[in-house]
Amino acid sequence: MASDVCSHVRVVVRVRPTTEREKTENCRSVVQVVDNHMLIFDPKEEDASCFGSQRVRNKNINKRANKDLKFVFDQVFGEESTQGDLFEGTTKAVLDGVMNGFNCTVFAYGATGAGKTHTMLGAQNDPGVMYRTMTELFKRMEDAKEEKEFTVAFSYFEVYNEQIRDLLANIGPLAVREDSSKGVVVQGLTLHKPKSAAHILEALDSGNRNRTQHPTDMNANSSRSHAVFQIYLRQQDKTASLNPNACVAKLSLIDLAGSERASATNAKAARLREGANINKSLLALGNVINALADPKNKKTHIPYRDSKLTRLLKDSLGGNCRTVMIANVSPSSKSYDDTHNTLKYANRAKEI
Ligand code: ADP
Ligand code: MG
Repeated sequence: MASDVCSHVRVVVRVRPTTEREKTENCRSVVQVVDNHMLIFDPKEEDASCFGSQRVRNKNINKRANKDLKFVFDQVFGEESTQGDLFEGTTKAVLDGVMNGFNCTVFAYGATGAGKTHTMLGAQNDPGVMYRTMTELFKRMEDAKEEKEFTVAFSYFEVYNEQIRDLLANIGPLAVREDSSKGVVVQGLTLHKPKSAAHILEALDSGNRNRTQHPTDMNANSSRSHAVFQIYLRQQDKTASLNPNACVAKLSLIDLAGSERASATNAKAARLREGANINKSLLALGNVINALADPKNKKTHIPYRDSKLTRLLKDSLGGNCRTVMIANVSPSSKSYDDTHNTLKYANRAKEI
């Protein structure tokens, strides 16, 4: 079964809908979702014609042989999938781990424009994984309030150019250190008590205005920073007063920087340094996930120290931690290489 590929790293793919612009430009669809677990990248034309009917007239534009690559993932979400579907299929199960005291991580990977921010943050009227997770967490705390006492707090920061910046207090760079009892700690990071689900939406929204944005040739809103939303849940048994079983779990929800390569964006010298660092974090994250996903590799060294992002996640990946990777892709032939690269990265993450 696909979900047995690795018990702790779930890899899912979300294909965003074709944009109006891609439609008017007559782009070919290069991703065919076969079922809940399988997709075909760059399908043979006869396959393409039955699902992308309006683009058939354009099918001979691409003269090269189609790659017709099959990919299998823990779950594949097609163009019509809703924010609710994504939450149900990814983070909801992860919350079980958090409620049981385990650190968990959900991250959105993909090129700029592939739908990472839409998936994680979403829009005010159609919120994404971050908000839905908090709403569900509130519900679960309410359901268990007779037996347990909960304290919840959140932080929101970015890793940009291998530097950490608090998005809620707008301060940085902040240092990371490892604490023997608290795990990984970002020094000086502000913690906030959520008053309501709406309060979190506001905090995320104002935090996002502090994100480092640099226009590149490829996309004016391209984000080169990794945005990390962390929720800390402390719980204590109400009944066992003599021996209160207190535990703290951390849930990290991450909107990663665009995975496109610096060369593809025709970046200038200043941007190149950024690009190198971003690739360093993404590459390191991939290497850590791979090392963790390999059951034969239990005793080998996991390269957490190779980047800021992986150092930050050292206590939130591996061990009993649950991890979900949401690989976001565009179906359009315009993003052919980006989509191919993202699928390969995602495939590598689940491979044993
Ligand atoms: P990224 O954060 O990966 O750069 P975005 O999330 O900003 O990409 O998505 C790019 C554009 O596509 C945005 O205008 C966004 O609203 C839209 N979009 C992405 N995913 C979806 C989706 N599943 N449904 C509808 N629109 C989407
Ligand atoms: Mg984004």
